[in-house]
Amino acid sequence: MSGSEKLYEGKAKILLSTGDPEILLTVFKDDATAFNAQKRGSITGKGEINCQISSHLFKLLEAEGIATHFKDCPAPNEMRVRWVKIVPVEVVVRNIAAGSLCKQTGLPTGTILKQPLVEFYYKNDDLGDPLLTRERLLLLELATREQVEELQTLALRVNEILSKFFLECGITLVDFKLEFGTDSEGRLLLADEISPDTCRLWDNADGDPDRRVMDKDRFRRDLGNVEQAYQRVLERVLAHSNKASGAR
Ligand code: UDP
Repeated sequence: MSGSEKLYEGKAKILLSTGDPEILLTVFKDDATAFNAQKRGSITGKGEINCQISSHLFKLLEAEGIATHFKDCPAPNEMRVRWVKIVPVEVVVRNIAAGSLCKQTGLPTGTILKQPLVEFYYKNDDLGDPLLTRERLLLLELATREQVEELQTLALRVNEILSKFFLECGITLVDFKLEFGTDSEGRLLLADEISPDTCRLWDNADGDPDRRVMDKDRFRRDLGNVEQAYQRVLERVLAHSNKASGAR
Protein backbone atom coordinates (compact mmCIF):
# COMPACT_ATOMS: atom_id res chain seq x y z
CA MET A 1 0.00 0.00 0.00
CA SER A 2 1.48 3.36 -0.97
CA GLY A 3 1.28 6.34 1.40
CA SER A 4 0.86 4.09 4.43
CA GLU A 5 3.15 3.66 7.39
CA LYS A 6 3.62 0.53 9.48
CA LEU A 7 2.32 1.32 12.96
CA TYR A 8 2.69 -2.09 14.54
CA GLU A 9 3.58 -5.65 13.62
CA GLY A 10 2.11 -8.39 15.78
CA LYS A 11 2.34 -12.17 15.65
CA ALA A 12 -0.42 -12.62 13.05
CA LYS A 13 -1.10 -9.14 11.65
CA ILE A 14 0.50 -5.88 10.52
CA LEU A 15 -1.24 -2.57 11.22
CA LEU A 16 -0.75 0.27 8.72
CA SER A 17 -1.92 3.87 8.70
CA THR A 18 -4.07 5.16 5.83
CA GLY A 19 -4.67 8.72 4.60
CA ASP A 20 -7.56 8.91 7.10
CA PRO A 21 -6.56 8.99 10.82
CA GLU A 22 -9.87 7.27 11.75
CA ILE A 23 -9.13 4.27 9.47
CA LEU A 24 -6.33 1.69 9.71
CA LEU A 25 -5.37 -1.17 7.41
CA THR A 26 -4.78 -4.62 8.90
CA VAL A 27 -2.73 -7.09 6.83
CA PHE A 28 -3.25 -10.70 7.93
CA LYS A 29 -0.08 -12.83 7.83
CA ASP A 30 0.47 -16.56 7.32
CA ASP A 31 2.76 -16.62 10.40
CA ALA A 32 1.53 -18.71 13.30
CA THR A 33 2.68 -18.72 16.92
CA ALA A 34 1.55 -20.59 20.01
CA PHE A 35 2.47 -20.87 23.70
CA ASN A 36 3.31 -17.16 23.99
CA ALA A 37 5.38 -17.32 20.75
CA GLN A 38 7.60 -20.20 21.96
CA LYS A 39 6.30 -22.24 19.00
CA ARG A 40 6.54 -20.56 15.60
CA GLY A 41 5.56 -21.60 12.09
CA SER A 42 3.62 -20.64 9.02
CA ILE A 43 0.25 -21.83 7.75
CA THR A 44 0.02 -21.38 3.97
CA GLY A 45 -2.95 -19.20 3.01
CA LYS A 46 -3.89 -18.46 6.65
CA GLY A 47 -3.74 -14.68 6.20
CA GLU A 48 -6.39 -14.69 3.47
CA ILE A 49 -8.53 -17.35 5.14
CA ASN A 50 -8.59 -15.63 8.54
CA CYS A 51 -9.27 -12.23 6.97
CA GLN A 52 -12.20 -13.67 4.99
CA ILE A 53 -13.68 -15.58 7.95
CA SER A 54 -13.26 -12.57 10.27
CA SER A 55 -14.82 -10.17 7.79
CA HIS A 56 -17.79 -12.48 7.34
CA LEU A 57 -18.28 -12.84 11.11
CA PHE A 58 -17.90 -9.10 11.75
CA LYS A 59 -20.58 -8.41 9.10
CA LEU A 60 -22.85 -11.02 10.68
CA LEU A 61 -22.38 -9.47 14.13
CA GLU A 62 -22.95 -5.92 12.81
CA ALA A 63 -26.21 -7.14 11.24
CA GLU A 64 -27.19 -8.41 14.71
CA GLY A 65 -26.48 -5.02 16.33
CA ILE A 66 -22.92 -5.55 17.66
CA ALA A 67 -20.68 -2.55 16.93
CA THR A 68 -17.35 -3.67 15.44
CA HIS A 69 -14.27 -1.96 14.01
CA PHE A 70 -14.80 -3.61 10.58
CA LYS A 71 -15.08 -1.43 7.44
CA ASP A 72 -14.25 -3.57 4.37
CA CYS A 73 -11.61 -5.75 2.68
CA PRO A 74 -9.67 -4.02 -0.12
CA ALA A 75 -7.75 -7.29 -0.77
CA PRO A 76 -8.30 -10.91 0.35
CA ASN A 77 -5.80 -10.61 3.24
CA GLU A 78 -6.41 -6.92 4.02
CA MET A 79 -9.08 -5.42 6.26
CA ARG A 80 -9.82 -1.72 6.70
CA VAL A 81 -10.91 -1.06 10.28
CA ARG A 82 -11.92 1.92 12.41
CA TRP A 83 -9.18 3.24 14.69
CA VAL A 84 -9.69 2.12 18.29
CA LYS A 85 -7.66 2.21 21.47
CA ILE A 86 -7.41 -1.48 22.37
CA VAL A 87 -8.57 -2.43 25.87
CA PRO A 88 -5.62 -4.57 27.11
CA VAL A 89 -7.92 -7.42 28.11
CA GLU A 90 -8.61 -10.67 26.25
CA VAL A 91 -12.21 -11.71 26.80
CA VAL A 92 -12.60 -15.50 26.54
CA VAL A 93 -15.99 -17.20 26.31
CA ARG A 94 -16.24 -20.96 26.84
CA ASN A 95 -19.11 -23.34 26.10
CA ILE A 96 -17.13 -26.59 26.43
CA ALA A 97 -14.05 -27.21 28.58
CA ALA A 98 -10.74 -27.24 26.67
CA GLY A 99 -7.21 -25.79 26.80
CA SER A 100 -6.18 -23.80 29.84
CA LEU A 101 -9.51 -24.33 31.63
CA CYS A 102 -8.82 -28.09 31.72
CA LYS A 103 -5.16 -27.60 32.67
CA GLN A 104 -6.03 -25.26 35.54
CA THR A 105 -9.15 -26.97 36.92
CA GLY A 106 -8.79 -30.66 36.01
CA LEU A 107 -12.13 -30.62 34.15
CA PRO A 108 -11.98 -33.24 31.37
CA THR A 109 -11.73 -31.87 27.82
CA GLY A 110 -15.17 -31.87 26.21
CA THR A 111 -17.15 -31.24 29.42
CA ILE A 112 -20.22 -29.24 28.39
CA LEU A 113 -20.52 -26.20 30.68
CA LYS A 114 -23.96 -25.63 32.24
CA GLN A 115 -23.74 -22.00 31.15
CA PRO A 116 -21.17 -20.06 29.11
CA LEU A 117 -18.14 -18.96 31.13
CA VAL A 118 -16.71 -15.47 30.51
CA GLU A 119 -13.09 -14.91 31.57
CA PHE A 120 -10.73 -11.95 31.39
CA TYR A 121 -7.01 -12.29 30.65
CA TYR A 122 -4.42 -9.50 30.91
CA LYS A 123 -3.10 -8.82 27.38
CA ASN A 124 0.54 -8.68 28.42
CA ASP A 125 3.15 -10.94 26.73
CA ASP A 126 5.81 -10.23 29.38
CA LEU A 127 3.50 -11.61 32.09
CA GLY A 128 2.26 -14.47 29.86
CA ASP A 129 -1.34 -13.13 29.54
CA PRO A 130 -2.49 -14.14 33.08
CA LEU A 131 -6.11 -14.85 34.03
CA LEU A 132 -7.54 -11.84 35.88
CA THR A 133 -10.22 -11.61 38.51
CA ARG A 134 -12.69 -8.76 37.96
CA GLU A 135 -11.22 -7.06 41.06
CA ARG A 136 -7.69 -7.20 39.61
CA LEU A 137 -9.01 -5.82 36.35
CA LEU A 138 -10.40 -2.83 38.24
CA LEU A 139 -7.27 -2.58 40.43
CA LEU A 140 -5.07 -2.28 37.33
CA GLU A 141 -7.58 0.19 35.83
CA LEU A 142 -7.69 -1.84 32.60
CA ALA A 143 -11.40 -1.05 32.31
CA THR A 144 -14.05 0.75 34.33
CA ARG A 145 -16.71 -1.17 36.28
CA GLU A 146 -19.26 -0.17 33.61
CA GLN A 147 -16.96 -1.39 30.83
CA VAL A 148 -16.48 -4.75 32.59
CA GLU A 149 -20.27 -5.18 32.66
CA GLU A 150 -20.51 -4.13 29.02
CA LEU A 151 -17.69 -6.51 28.00
CA GLN A 152 -19.44 -9.40 29.76
CA THR A 153 -22.82 -8.62 28.15
CA LEU A 154 -21.32 -8.13 24.68
CA ALA A 155 -19.24 -11.32 24.93
CA LEU A 156 -22.31 -13.39 25.85
CA ARG A 157 -24.34 -11.86 23.02
CA VAL A 158 -21.51 -12.55 20.53
CA ASN A 159 -21.42 -16.13 21.83
CA GLU A 160 -25.17 -16.56 21.19
CA ILE A 161 -24.88 -15.25 17.63
CA LEU A 162 -21.70 -17.15 16.71
CA SER A 163 -22.71 -20.45 18.38
CA LYS A 164 -25.96 -20.45 16.38
CA PHE A 165 -24.17 -19.52 13.15
CA PHE A 166 -21.44 -22.17 13.50
CA LEU A 167 -24.02 -24.81 14.46
CA GLU A 168 -25.75 -24.09 11.14
CA CYS A 169 -22.33 -24.69 9.50
CA GLY A 170 -22.06 -28.08 11.26
CA ILE A 171 -19.43 -26.76 13.68
CA THR A 172 -19.43 -26.55 17.51
CA LEU A 173 -18.05 -23.30 18.91
CA VAL A 174 -16.11 -24.64 21.92
CA ASP A 175 -14.50 -21.38 23.06
CA PHE A 176 -13.09 -18.15 21.64
CA LYS A 177 -11.22 -14.96 22.48
CA LEU A 178 -12.43 -11.43 21.77
CA GLU A 179 -10.70 -8.07 21.94
CA PHE A 180 -12.39 -4.70 22.22
CA GLY A 181 -11.33 -1.11 21.76
CA THR A 182 -12.73 2.36 22.33
CA ASP A 183 -13.20 4.74 19.40
CA SER A 184 -12.56 8.50 19.48
CA GLU A 185 -16.03 9.00 21.05
CA GLY A 186 -15.40 6.43 23.78
CA ARG A 187 -17.69 3.79 22.24
CA LEU A 188 -16.71 0.17 22.86
CA LEU A 189 -16.21 -1.67 19.53
CA LEU A 190 -15.43 -5.34 18.92
CA ALA A 191 -11.95 -5.40 17.35
CA ASP A 192 -9.05 -7.67 16.31
CA GLU A 193 -10.19 -10.87 14.51
CA ILE A 194 -12.47 -13.88 14.93
CA SER A 195 -10.96 -16.86 13.16
CA PRO A 196 -9.67 -20.42 13.65
CA ASP A 197 -6.65 -18.74 15.30
CA THR A 198 -8.86 -17.33 18.06
CA CYS A 199 -11.69 -19.89 18.34
CA ARG A 200 -11.86 -23.62 19.09
CA LEU A 201 -14.06 -25.17 16.41
CA TRP A 202 -15.06 -28.84 16.34
CA ASP A 203 -16.53 -30.54 13.29
CA ASN A 204 -19.93 -32.01 14.18
CA ALA A 205 -19.58 -34.53 11.33
CA ASP A 206 -16.61 -36.22 13.03
CA GLY A 207 -16.67 -37.71 16.54
CA ASP A 208 -12.92 -38.42 16.65
CA PRO A 209 -11.38 -36.06 19.25
CA ASP A 210 -8.39 -35.20 17.03
CA ARG A 211 -9.93 -35.36 13.56
CA ARG A 212 -12.81 -33.04 14.53
CA VAL A 213 -10.41 -30.16 15.40
CA MET A 214 -10.70 -27.34 12.81
CA ASP A 215 -8.68 -24.62 14.56
CA LYS A 216 -5.24 -23.58 15.79
CA ASP A 217 -5.06 -26.60 18.11
CA ARG A 218 -4.02 -28.54 14.94
CA PHE A 219 -0.89 -26.32 14.89
CA ARG A 220 -0.42 -26.19 18.69
CA ARG A 221 -0.67 -29.99 19.02
CA ASP A 222 1.00 -30.95 15.68
CA LEU A 223 -2.15 -32.72 14.47
CA GLY A 224 -1.33 -32.06 10.77
CA ASN A 225 -3.58 -30.80 7.93
CA VAL A 226 -3.73 -27.31 9.45
CA GLU A 227 -4.26 -25.46 6.14
CA GLN A 228 -6.96 -27.90 5.08
CA ALA A 229 -8.86 -27.45 8.36
CA TYR A 230 -8.79 -23.63 8.11
CA GLN A 231 -9.88 -23.87 4.46
CA ARG A 232 -12.80 -26.14 5.41
CA VAL A 233 -13.99 -23.61 8.00
CA LEU A 234 -13.95 -20.87 5.34
CA GLU A 235 -15.80 -23.08 2.84
CA ARG A 236 -18.54 -23.88 5.37
CA VAL A 237 -18.88 -20.21 6.37
CA LEU A 238 -19.17 -19.13 2.71
CA ALA A 239 -21.53 -22.00 1.81
CA HIS A 240 -23.78 -21.02 4.72
CA SER A 241 -23.87 -17.36 3.69
CA ASN A 242 -24.60 -18.25 0.04
CA LYS A 243 -27.45 -20.47 1.21
CA ALA A 244 -28.75 -17.71 3.50
CA SER A 245 -28.65 -15.06 0.74
CA GLY A 246 -30.27 -17.52 -1.72
CA ALA A 247 -33.12 -18.02 0.74
CA ARG A 248 -33.92 -14.30 0.89
N1 UDP B 1 -6.94 -17.58 22.63
C1 UDP B 1 -6.46 -16.65 21.71
N2 UDP B 1 -5.34 -15.95 22.03
C2 UDP B 1 -4.67 -16.10 23.20
C3 UDP B 1 -5.16 -17.03 24.13
C4 UDP B 1 -6.29 -17.75 23.81
O1 UDP B 1 -7.03 -16.47 20.65
O2 UDP B 1 -3.66 -15.41 23.42
C5 UDP B 1 -8.16 -18.35 22.31
C6 UDP B 1 -7.85 -19.82 22.05
O3 UDP B 1 -7.63 -20.05 20.67
C7 UDP B 1 -9.10 -20.50 22.53
C8 UDP B 1 -9.60 -19.59 23.67
O4 UDP B 1 -9.00 -18.32 23.45
O5 UDP B 1 -10.07 -20.52 21.51
C9 UDP B 1 -9.26 -20.09 25.05
O6 UDP B 1 -7.89 -20.34 25.12
P1 UDP B 1 -7.21 -21.02 26.42
O7 UDP B 1 -7.37 -20.10 27.58
O8 UDP B 1 -7.75 -22.40 26.57
O9 UDP B 1 -5.69 -21.02 26.12
P2 UDP B 1 -4.79 -22.03 25.27
O10 UDP B 1 -4.74 -23.30 26.04
O11 UDP B 1 -5.46 -22.14 23.95
O12 UDP B 1 -3.50 -21.30 25.20
